[in-house]
Amino acid sequence: MIEEWTEQVKNQVNTIEKLAKYINVSDDEKEAINTLKTKWGTSPYFASLMDKDDPDCPIRKQVIPSLKEQVNEYGMKNYLVWKENRATEEIRPDSIARQYHDRVAFTVVQVCGIYCRHCFRKELVVDQNLQLNFDVEEGLAWIAEHSEIRDVLITGGDPLLLSDEKLGYLIAKLREMPHIEMIRIGSRLPIVLPHRITDGLKKAIGGYHRIPVWINTQCNHPKEITEETAKAVYELMSCGINVGNQAVLLKGINDDVDTFRELHQKLLRIRIRPYYVFYCEPAPGMDHFRTPVEKGAELIRDALRGHTTGLAQPMYVLATNIGKIPLMPDYYIVDKNKKEYTLRNYKGEFTKIPNMPE
Ligand SMILES: *Cc1c(COP(=O)(O)O)cnc(C)c1O
Ligand code: SF4
Repeated sequence: MIEEWTEQVKNQVNTIEKLAKYINVSDDEKEAINTLKTKWGTSPYFASLMDKDDPDCPIRKQVIPSLKEQVNEYGMKNYLVWKENRATEEIRPDSIARQYHDRVAFTVVQVCGIYCRHCFRKELVVDQNLQLNFDVEEGLAWIAEHSEIRDVLITGGDPLLLSDEKLGYLIAKLREMPHIEMIRIGSRLPIVLPHRITDGLKKAIGGYHRIPVWINTQCNHPKEITEETAKAVYELMSCGINVGNQAVLLKGINDDVDTFRELHQKLLRIRIRPYYVFYCEPAPGMDHFRTPVEKGAELIRDALRGHTTGLAQPMYVLATNIGKIPLMPDYYIVDKNKKEYTLRNYKGEFTKIPNMPE
């Protein structure tokens, strides 16, 4: 039986002709597609969420190439080599990116359900001018030999594009290793291709086990959330898989207070726990998506903290070559002396509590 999700992958929307079935493609969009010669594409499902007439649609801007990608004043060259510490002394397979002692990112595939224009791995998955060798067996062997690794983050590309059999194999192999305590999968498919969450997938990666599986997806705008997404998330949770979100802060897409709050509230409404919001990384060709660094902390201050439940609060982080660096709004402690702290809340009201000596 051919499943709906494989049909969607086969019928990827990646030409102007196919795109024109969903939207009125603008002249700028046509010119960018024709001149940039960049890999792009989306599932038909995600294309169906696009606004037909508005080129500023948040879904269109994440999917359709833009001439602005030619500008690169602030992006770093060879970004991924820097970011993933590929030039350090430890010898690791290409598939293993390491920034921490106890956990690694394990790249198992280079294809995606959509090719995000803001992807920090653009050099690899979109432009493909960085050639790496993602040998799953080699990666598994490396992890097996490194007993300090507790936590494996399976990434890509989009790992959920692997077949149920391959995913089942990968998860089973990791679960056989005595030092592994948890497995995480980073996948945009619950958002861009929720049809992927099938009974077969649930069987392959879900179910009760000593070693839990977490999925972190990427949803950047409330418009990306549909009834299909809600059902897919429910299905994942019903077989024991926790679902979190890792959004990217994108200029003109989610960097205003109302959209930012609506995104995080809507995620919780469909049972997704906001985990991170990433600063849009300084990879090449995405200056037009990038805000000032402080913007994310300001949004947490103005849109989330106090304005809505603590469950809706992601951590805002800058992902760097030395790990993720959290950046929090810091308006709480107004004053501190020997006797007391003066504190401020989200409404600008003040209160005092005693200063407890050590
Ligand atoms: C993001 C990342 C991790 C996971 O970080 P958490 O803060 O645990 O989610 C691990 N390794 C690398 C290389 C990463 O980029
Ligand atoms: S799904 Fe992830 S890896 Fe793929 S293009 Fe988007 S951000 Fe990049």
